[in-house]
Amino acid sequence: MATICVLNAGSSTLKYAVYETAPTLGRVAGGTIEGGSLDRVPLPDDVAAFGHRVVHGGPHLSQPVAIDPETFAAIEAVSPLAPLHNPPALAVIRALRDRFPDTMQVACFDTGFHHGHPAVADRFAIPDALYQEGVRRYGFHGLSYEYIAGALETVAPAIAKGRVVVAHLGSGASMCGLVGGRSVDSSMGFTALDGLPMGTRSGSLDAGVILWLQQTKGWSVDRVEHFLYHDCGLKGLSGLSNDMRVLLASDASLARLAVDYFVYHVARTAGALAASTGGLDAMVFTAGIGEHSPEIRSRVLRRLSWLGFEVDDTANAAGGPLLTASGSRLPAYVIPTDEELVIARHTAALFRG
Ligand code: ADP
Repeated sequence: MATICVLNAGSSTLKYAVYETAPTLGRVAGGTIEGGSLDRVPLPDDVAAFGHRVVHGGPHLSQPVAIDPETFAAIEAVSPLAPLHNPPALAVIRALRDRFPDTMQVACFDTGFHHGHPAVADRFAIPDALYQEGVRRYGFHGLSYEYIAGALETVAPAIAKGRVVVAHLGSGASMCGLVGGRSVDSSMGFTALDGLPMGTRSGSLDAGVILWLQQTKGWSVDRVEHFLYHDCGLKGLSGLSNDMRVLLASDASLARLAVDYFVYHVARTAGALAASTGGLDAMVFTAGIGEHSPEIRSRVLRRLSWLGFEVDDTANAAGGPLLTASGSRLPAYVIPTDEELVIARHTAALFRG
């Protein structure tokens, strides 16, 4: 039977998932390869099509697309905007093209779901010429938000039509404002460095800090890039770990500060996005921290009690999906994300033509 193979290449891991296409799309295998070597992915010969997560599509690529040389070049052109993600995805695409030259490969973009943001959310306050060159607030984690928007139609159909803030809190973290299932704003911008503090990325940082590092400390561009992607965020602030589990278990004052900082900024960003969506009907938590940490969910929702959230501690500890009490003015949910399934659906659709 023909299968769809989904590949999600990161800086240090390669996640894969295999789906049978009939009678319905169903996951039959999957795993994570540390080190990211394609050689260790068990690839059957009857793969109908490969689907790839590509983090950055730049200004020209938003819809899932069968990869031809032109598409490949366009993904390569925006690699500097996703230096941890686009290059390993391209390496996998190239290796598969050599090994299975006749098999369709599809790229699905994390930026795609945010395409169509209003100009005020899509722009920086810089000259238009730079916008035309592609300096825009793209937004990321779009495959995850697309999954959540779809899942909400089952979990809470009335709310799926309304105004929802989704918090994708993993080692990369961002938040998205949805209205009627469509993204209207994101905490992430030009690159996946923006917005919330992350495992090792700073999140929003006054551009003046970067100037200061270069002018006063004499840091090179490469050093600044490495610093912003690898040495900041929870790891930088705590001086201990990029892993939220380690920080939650620690009594060290800087570890506590890092957790406080994370919670504060998730809540602050929820408030900002509630202004983008013109009010709020619900909030959703997803990804590693969002799905597995009742403590972080509870602390964020308590900070947002002024918006009308009242946590049900038992439901929250049990993993929801509804996290709030019956009398809560607004509901909050936890919904496990499934980016691979979204990629498999798009890949199967393009394969069937
Ligand atoms: P990625 O962006 O790599 O896909 P994930 O969405 O898998 O990341 O999230 C990974 C992060 O989730 C880990 O760095 C870890 O800090 C966090 N995490 C996983 N389980 C828990 C937990 N039980 N409590 C708190 N944090 C958790």
